[in-house]
Amino acid sequence: MKEYLNYSTTKWYIGFIMPELPEVETIKRGLEKSIVGKTIVSFTSDTPKMLNYPLAFYQRRLTGLKVLKVERRAKMIIIRFSHDWNILGHLKMTGQLVFHGPHKCVVGGHPIKEGFGCKPNRFTHAIFTFKDQTQLYFNDVRKFGWLRLFTSPELQKALENNLGPEPLENDFTLEVFERELKKRPSTKIKQFLMDPKNVVGIGNIYSDEICFFARVRPERQVKTLKSEEVKKLFAGIKKILTEAVKYEGTSISDYVNAQGEAGAYTKKLKVYQRYGKECLRCGGMIVRSKIGGRTSSFCPACQK
Ligand SMILES: [Zn+2]
Repeated sequence: MKEYLNYSTTKWYIGFIMPELPEVETIKRGLEKSIVGKTIVSFTSDTPKMLNYPLAFYQRRLTGLKVLKVERRAKMIIIRFSHDWNILGHLKMTGQLVFHGPHKCVVGGHPIKEGFGCKPNRFTHAIFTFKDQTQLYFNDVRKFGWLRLFTSPELQKALENNLGPEPLENDFTLEVFERELKKRPSTKIKQFLMDPKNVVGIGNIYSDEICFFARVRPERQVKTLKSEEVKKLFAGIKKILTEAVKYEGTSISDYVNAQGEAGAYTKKLKVYQRYGKECLRCGGMIVRSKIGGRTSSFCPACQK
């Protein structure tokens, strides 16, 4: 009897919701436990557009390499191998990583139901096989995800490409946040938070939650923020993302995992998609508006 686990212990989202920092961090931690120390014996893929070189090049380079480390930058996963090779991966909206071990199967990402058979299926577009016969599958319904192969200097260059600070790192300070805000005075706050050039890893869910925490309306322009509000937003970024990582991300809808558990951070959400419901803080009515093409929920009574 195999043990079926999710990287997050939950399936965290359904539909086309982009995973944000806590969800990708959860996958990273799950992968770390599953594949570090393993040596690749073969690699295959049926989707050339997911790769940045022809398949034969991947096969030549990856075979024999050992997984040294798994990291995360913004919403991307980095697998570091021996001999200075690396895979930079993005799950995009519908990607899923499935680790198939002898005693367990670990699934992280989009809840493609077929992934829970823990066998390759019609959505499996890349397979890493390790020396001990364990495997890592990359499944993707819409094939927007990718796995790019880079040398370490190339990876470095790819990661420097227009990405802002990591919000949970110590070098993301209030001063850094203020400096970034000053660059974009006319941007709406929600859009500012969701733009990875300013700060990475925050999407639709956590930008709403951060604005709610700070009692700031998401559609306000950055330049209208008082210094107290900037401090509150900064504190909200740190607090909400830290908590969401602790609870292993958010699962939207009533989708549950193989053990029948609901998403962990979902129960902590205070405002995201709660429009039409009572505000948990003041009892007012949560409303929604479109900001930059995304639906934002906020409380007009206690968010100013
Ligand atoms: Zn309220």
